[in-house]
Amino acid sequence: MKHFDFIVLGSGIAGLSFALKVAPRGRVAIITKKNKAESNTNYAQGGIAAVTSKEDSVEIHVRDTLEAGAGLCHEDVVRTIVTEGPARIAELIELGMKFSEREIDGGGRELDLGREGGHSKRRILHAKDVTGREIERALLNAVALHDNIEIFEDHLVIDLITAHKLHRRAGREAEPADRCLGAYVFDKSANRVETFAAPFVLLATGGCGKVYLYTTNPDIATGDGVAMAYRAGAAVANMEFIQFHPTCLYHPAAKSFLISEAVRGEGGVLRNAAGEAFMDRYHPLKSLAPRDIVARAIDSEMKKSGSDCVFLDITEKPARFIIDRFPNIYSNCLKFGIDITKDYIPVVPAAHYQCGGVVTNVDGRTDIAGLYAVGEVACTGLHGANRLASNSLLEALVCAHRAAEQARLEPEPAVVVDIPSWHSGKALNADEMVVVSHNWDEIRRLMWDYVGIVRTNKRLQRARSRIINLQEEIREYYWGYIVNSDLLELRNIATVAELIIQCALQRPESRGLHYNLDYPNLDPAWAQRDSVVRRPPST
Ligand SMILES: Cc1cc2nc3c(=O)[nH]c(=O)nc-3n(C[C@H](O)[C@H](O)[C@H](O)COP(=O)(O)OP(=O)(O)OC[C@H]3O[C@@H](n4cnc5c(N)ncnc54)[C@H](O)[C@@H]3O)c2cc1C
Repeated sequence: MKHFDFIVLGSGIAGLSFALKVAPRGRVAIITKKNKAESNTNYAQGGIAAVTSKEDSVEIHVRDTLEAGAGLCHEDVVRTIVTEGPARIAELIELGMKFSEREIDGGGRELDLGREGGHSKRRILHAKDVTGREIERALLNAVALHDNIEIFEDHLVIDLITAHKLHRRAGREAEPADRCLGAYVFDKSANRVETFAAPFVLLATGGCGKVYLYTTNPDIATGDGVAMAYRAGAAVANMEFIQFHPTCLYHPAAKSFLISEAVRGEGGVLRNAAGEAFMDRYHPLKSLAPRDIVARAIDSEMKKSGSDCVFLDITEKPARFIIDRFPNIYSNCLKFGIDITKDYIPVVPAAHYQCGGVVTNVDGRTDIAGLYAVGEVACTGLHGANRLASNSLLEALVCAHRAAEQARLEPEPAVVVDIPSWHSGKALNADEMVVVSHNWDEIRRLMWDYVGIVRTNKRLQRARSRIINLQEEIREYYWGYIVNSDLLELRNIATVAELIIQCALQRPESRGLHYNLDYPNLDPAWAQRDSVVRRPPST
């Protein structure tokens, strides 16, 4: 068994920022399932929203966030995160993060602020269109300088270890107060399961885009943290609010390539298959309307015309500006034969961001002592029913700092004498591996077709009964065989799919990102009501 003072699960912006803050106080293990930079953070393009200009104010940023969140944001949380954002950004710059700057008329330079949908001011700090890559670079460089931090790459966390779980396993009654004690972790290179123990565990495992057939997220985004926390008995909320990014590149050879909202922020116009700029018919902000409205408008245009995609047109802008502002998007599209300075970009909506997650307060505290959650895995109340673009990196930075402050105050846990080692079953054979990959595909297509941008009660019910059957099959494999990454992730996407459906079925209205044709309107009784799910105690 490996003992640490802090275990950090995940190496995106949330995990790395937290690790850097607590490292002066104890030994930290960062456990991450692929290489250390592979994360949603690494692919963030647009940037981080924060109030840094004289034309902007905390009040306006709060108002924009509340408006996007459609009556479900927790205003106190929004205010805290927006207020503390600029100080965290300043720390990031001090660590070595290089944001893009622009020349000021009359001499000098200042931060170049981008604009995105739903923001009434320019407030997005960015590093051209590769902000996330630059954040990971800066944070990982800083982590490498810390003797107290050890990174375990290619280590996939299977499950959290809690006092209740150990008590139940030993056949004793669960003690009244639960506590997280560590995690079982699958070392992929050594092909064995290890036990990590610490009094403080941070879940920073990111989102769950891979639950859907089409997503902007990389392969790591299988919702592992939400599934593990749910199995451990933590409350999970608002999983029905999945943000579909309106503009993912549509090309048979392009896997999950996002065309940033900043392209629309700089004047890009959405056009349908007939070349018509259709957003005028859907929202006064046209192509810069909030993402849920744009995604539904595209869905509707595609259904009306029967076309496979719509188009984003930035050709009005000078080629030099486009290439300088969007070098990554320009060169990636060019690889697929699309010159965005001259051609329309074919785009479709794709699952992008999980607004709900493990319920925490603004300090990242979950309802299990010793277990914190920060970043996309958490549901703090910032995003409500719809995330305002570029607020997520901000949330991760601010809440990681606050969780690190709380970690000072955590009481020492009772000493646990014995955490049993992992018990392995037999090896899966090739036939059984086919079943695993079939179930992966089935869940992702099922979620896309039945629990996507537009939902109905009947489709949700159908999805639910199918997921319950699939979970039975997966459970058999999980307990009977030696674990492997595909099986572990399959088990997690099935759990997360179930949670999304459960939350969606709880909400008898359409609000923000959740649109149900059987309840097309807002129900005022559901304003400020989160949809909460918790694992029944006996399972
Ligand atoms: C293409 C794209 C563009 C985006 N653009 C923006 C933007 O411009 N602005 C913005 O604010 N947000 C943006 N987002 C969203 C934002 O990037 C994420 O919400 C944010 O980076 C999440 O950070 P995180 O630290 O919570 O998780 P991540 O950065 O996703 O990190 C999760 C980490 O956990 C690890 N992990 C997961 N499960 C396990 C497990 N079982 N065991 C071990 N390790 C595990 C992963 O390997 C990874 O290291 C974008 C997202 C995408 C996909």
